[in-house]
Amino acid sequence: MTTSRREFLKTAAVAGLAGPVRSLRADDRPPFATSVKRLMLKHTWTIARNSSDYKDNVFVRIERDGVVGWGEAAPNVRYGESAEKTLAVLERTRPLLESSDWFEYVDLRRRWETFTKGQTCAGAALDMAILDWVGGKLGVPLWRLFGLDGSKAPITTFSIGIDTPDVVRQKVREAADFPVLKIKVGRDNDAEILAAVRDVTDCPLRVDANEGWRDKHLALDRIQWLQESGVELIEQPMPAAMLDETAWLRDRVTIPIIADEAVKGAADIPKLAQAYDGINIKLMKSGGLQEAMRMIHVARALDMRIMLGCMIASSVSITAAAHLSPLIDYADLDGNLLIADDPFLGVTVDRGRLVLPDRPGLGVAERTT
Ligand code: MG
Repeated sequence: MTTSRREFLKTAAVAGLAGPVRSLRADDRPPFATSVKRLMLKHTWTIARNSSDYKDNVFVRIERDGVVGWGEAAPNVRYGESAEKTLAVLERTRPLLESSDWFEYVDLRRRWETFTKGQTCAGAALDMAILDWVGGKLGVPLWRLFGLDGSKAPITTFSIGIDTPDVVRQKVREAADFPVLKIKVGRDNDAEILAAVRDVTDCPLRVDANEGWRDKHLALDRIQWLQESGVELIEQPMPAAMLDETAWLRDRVTIPIIADEAVKGAADIPKLAQAYDGINIKLMKSGGLQEAMRMIHVARALDMRIMLGCMIASSVSITAAAHLSPLIDYADLDGNLLIADDPFLGVTVDRGRLVLPDRPGLGVAERTT
């Protein structure tokens, strides 16, 4: 037995894996690699909670039988995540990943979730890498593996972060190709931002307060004013914990209220039906495509609307989410468009409409230039 093989089995034993560890050929390339890439934002990104100029995301690359699978984790401080914690969690899943049959991804997910609980973005990276590999091995795009019509992908909004009126106007001009915009509010300059947007465009708007309004009367006042300004929906107007206040709001406004920070996985959805009209699903919150699919089914059973959103991320995870987009009502998959140096190619946007790759798996490729 080689030293590395002995080390591998020792790690597997420490990790307490159930079942036999399958042997790997000695000439196998490392089948599981992680790396951190710093993604620089085109504009400083400000929402009600915080500001940032870059995002450190974690990438997973798996390979077997000459087929490669890519995954990405976009850690979010809102959920106690960081690149360091994500890397540590992924390292703990290494023996499981290296020793398992990747076609058994449903069972595999249950096993890696014992490690990724609390760092759901790490689970998302594993889930998309495995499904990318499965699709690659079968030679079909993920939307096809899911039984969907890829040409039914919806339009995506383009998000305008909180900024000075001049910069907001500039951002809105840059987004002229998008038929619907998503506007971030929730600080003290909401009226100023909306006025700046309306200086440039009359297009429909969706608004995200990111839990920014902590008083239900203030929130009601703001939403009623947004309704009169041609806003289609409001996302997470109040903090996730203020469920009763949000239900109170819902009885008094006409536009749909969508939960974002209030929902991570399928188990969160039933209690939200009393206060929200829909949910915003993100792979980083759900822990991947498999749970996102479950969330779609649960939300539909409760007659709720579905938005598919994202964090600031590369084309790896944006493309992964886009493969589910034929199933949903509102896409907000622009995280890759907000960064200046996307290391990958994948889903594209044609006058706002998502264009899903026809290539197997996720259909993403590393950018070579
Ligand atoms: Mg949101």
